[in-house]
Order: sequence, then structure tokens, then C-alpha cells
Amino acid sequence: MRIPGSTALVTGANRGIGRHFARQLLDRGAAKVYATARDPEGVDLPGAHVLRLDVTDPASVTAAARAAGDVTLLVNNAGINTGQNLVTGDLAKIRLEMDTHFYGTLEVVRAFAPVLAANGGGAIVNVLSALSWFSAPGTSAYAAAKAAQWSLTNGIRLELAGQGTQVTALHLGTADTDMIAGTGLEPLNQPGDVARAALDGVEAGELEVVVDDWSAHVKASLAGDPAAFYR
Ligand code: NDP
Repeated sequence: MRIPGSTALVTGANRGIGRHFARQLLDRGAAKVYATARDPEGVDLPGAHVLRLDVTDPASVTAAARAAGDVTLLVNNAGINTGQNLVTGDLAKIRLEMDTHFYGTLEVVRAFAPVLAANGGGAIVNVLSALSWFSAPGTSAYAAAKAAQWSLTNGIRLELAGQGTQVTALHLGTADTDMIAGTGLEPLNQPGDVARAALDGVEAGELEVVVDDWSAHVKASLAGDPAAFYR
């Protein structure tokens, strides 16, 4: 996917990794970047076009798709981690995590698929996690939602190939953002570095971009020692 000249839209662009995606897309020569957020007043990104978009609010998703009919690169970055275990956690929060990562991404993709088709096919980039592959205590509900979002990514890649839309999965490790604060996880990377490595993979045309190597954690988890995640 060529970023120079593209028209990009990033969800959850007001803070964290999403803010870095929006800024770096501008730096890399995107012709236009829509920085979207639940609260547009909270977006401070010179040069970006700010739109309201709450991925759990279908009316705001369709309004954004109408307002941004020139999008060629859609970055589904919005996310939430309320730190729930599946068995003992708060079911309403578990549903909200699934609503945000799975149904939210799906609503955005369904609204923007015709926009991308009308603009030559374009690309969708879904922000996934190493926790799309395995689970961890204290955050198993988030992991389940990210796994569902990965399966969604694989499904839409097949379904949208016919209209020429490239679908890329970003598998990120930990980044030092509000999401990680207070989880007990040691952030491995700065969010700006994560966004840069991810966009390098997108520009190189990779469909599965793995931003850092969590193989030790994956192996420990597969070996039946999920607590090794925290060591
Ligand atoms: P942050 O908590 O720093 O930022 C999350 C962003 O998502 C905020 O802009 C937030 O907006 C937005 N958001 C949450 N819910 C919605 C919604 N319903 N509609 C629109 N926007 C919403 O998290 P990160 O930057 O760390 O996470 C970004 C992405 O990266 C997520 O998909 C996350 O799962 C993924 N990721 C993060 C990792 C990490 O270690 N940080 C590791 C692997 C993946 P608001 O300010 O309104 O809350």
C-alpha cells in the first residue's frame, strides 16, 4: 500500500498509538488524514481533518463514511482493555470489549467497504495484538475480543479481495500507552516506534505485520504456563 497520496482515516486518533498513526501518515505524505475520535474536541493534530467516530455508535459510523467518501486507507485502531477475566469478570465490560473490537470494527468495515471500492480498492489495516494469539490472566476477555477481531480480519480479507481491497493485520506487542498503565505488564516499546514499524510493514505490502517478537510468551502460553506472560 502506497501511503504518499493516500487519504487515510484512523479511529481512536486522539491519543495512544492511533495519534501516532495519524501524525506519521501525514509525515509520510498522505494527501489527507481523517483523525477520528469519540470526542473530536480532544484531537490536537495540525493538518488532520477531525471527525467524530465512535465505533460502538452505528449512526456516527455511517455519518463518518458519508463525510469521508474519499478514503483509500482505513486504520481500525480504536480499542479498549478493561482488564476482565472471562469467568469472574464483569460481563457488561466483557461485552463492551467485544462490541468495540469485533462489532465496532465490523460496523466500520461495512460502512467503508463501498467507499474503498469506489476509490480503487484501497486498504484496511486492523490493529491486533499478540493477545490475538494467546491469552493471559487478568486480560483474557480482551484477548478473546482481539482474537475475534483477527478472525474478522481474515474473513474480510477473503471477502474484499474481489473489489481489490488489501487487508493488513498488525500484531503489536506492548506499547507504553494508557491501555497498559496499571495492568502489571511491562511495556516493551514506545507507541511512536510501534506505529513506525507497523507503517513500514504496511508500505512494504506485508499482510501480517508482526511488530515485535513475543515468541517466548507464546511458547510459554502454549506450554501451559500462561503466568509466564508476566515474567
Ligand atoms: P489507548 O487506551 O491509549 O487509546 C485507545 C484509543 O481508542 C483512544 O483514542 C480511545 O478513545 C479509542 N477508543 C476506545 N473506544 C472507542 C470507541 N468506541 N470508538 C472510537 N474510539 C474508541 O490504547 P492504545 O493506543 O494502546 O491502543 C490502540 C490499539 O492498539 C488498540 O486496538 C489496542 O487493542 C491495540 N494494542 C495496544 C497494545 C498496547 O500495548 N498498548 C498492544 C497491542 C495492541 P477515548 O480517548 O475516547 O477513550
